[in-house]
Amino acid sequence: ERIISGEVQADEETEELSLRPKVLKQYIGQHKAKENLSIFIEAAKMRNEPLDHVLLYGPPGLGKTTMAQIIANEMGVQFKSTSGPAVERSGDLAAILSSLEVGDVLFIDEIHRLPRAVEEILYPAMEDFCLDIVIGSGPSARSVQLDLPPFTLVGATTRAGLLTAPLRDRFGVLSRLEFYEVDDLCDIVERTSEIFAVSIDKGAALEIARRSRGTPRIANRLLKRVRDISQVKGETSISIETTQKALEMLQVDQSGLDHIDHKLLLAIIDGFRGGPVGLDTIAASVGEESQTIEDVYEPYLLQEGYIQRTPRGRLVTDKAYTHLNREVPHT
Ligand code: ADP
Repeated sequence: ERIISGEVQADEETEELSLRPKVLKQYIGQHKAKENLSIFIEAAKMRNEPLDHVLLYGPPGLGKTTMAQIIANEMGVQFKSTSGPAVERSGDLAAILSSLEVGDVLFIDEIHRLPRAVEEILYPAMEDFCLDIVIGSGPSARSVQLDLPPFTLVGATTRAGLLTAPLRDRFGVLSRLEFYEVDDLCDIVERTSEIFAVSIDKGAALEIARRSRGTPRIANRLLKRVRDISQVKGETSISIETTQKALEMLQVDQSGLDHIDHKLLLAIIDGFRGGPVGLDTIAASVGEESQTIEDVYEPYLLQEGYIQRTPRGRLVTDKAYTHLNREVPHT
């Protein structure tokens, strides 16, 4: 598995439970989203009403699930969670919805992957807190309406644009999570080290922060690997030298790019003279799905200015040529 993927990996789920901040105050960075949400939470609490439905969007590993849990904590309600791909039939979602209590937070991760028929159940549930279900089939089928307690749906997705308009329109709060600043990631690395009960030099924490692609999940993962190597070496505090060596071993370069990023950039440079070239063509040439490239690999490369999106496709920038030790072409 790719060490710098923002997606959660098989062995990480249980450990992440202990790493997740529990209240808004402990949630590092994302100042804009945090400020907005804290106002909405405060207001809902004052009115003694459930919070409006919230859509959190942004690349994997930025803290959407964490934020959803914090919302439930701050509102003092139960947190129930599922995901788009896990809910296959309308009946599954109806069962989850009818188990909710007043004010509960229902978190649906990867909400854009809900089957269409299931998604349609959500419209009246979100809007009028009711459930339209059909009992029986054929000519004897009849539709009944069930009332639901008012609840808060928190949806998570990588891009808001992946949602259908009717679903997107039913969220009162749309909150975009951004890649984290290095300083914030550094704080996250230090916080996680404390939870792991290991000490880490400031320079080492900064080095991990710089190479984590703006993503807390990656920062925590890199820290874990570096910690192992540091412990084997018998260090009392994780040093910058060990950190640099470890990251080199893990093939994460100075800027947090790995062989897959290099492959992607070189495919455009060598195969298409630096572009512009269409996403599907790039995907075919590196053997990946267009959507994976667009949602997982590309956002950080775009943000850091290694590639640009143009109407005619993706274009590699001078920064990418320099980074890969290639001569910048004269135009
Ligand atoms: P997402 O749902 O967006 O994929 P998660 O909420 O699962 O991301 O977060 C991934 C990991 O990063 C978790 O282990 C969490 O502890 C950590 N994390 C995310 N955001 C923060 C933050 N703001 N402060 C501290 N840790 C964070």
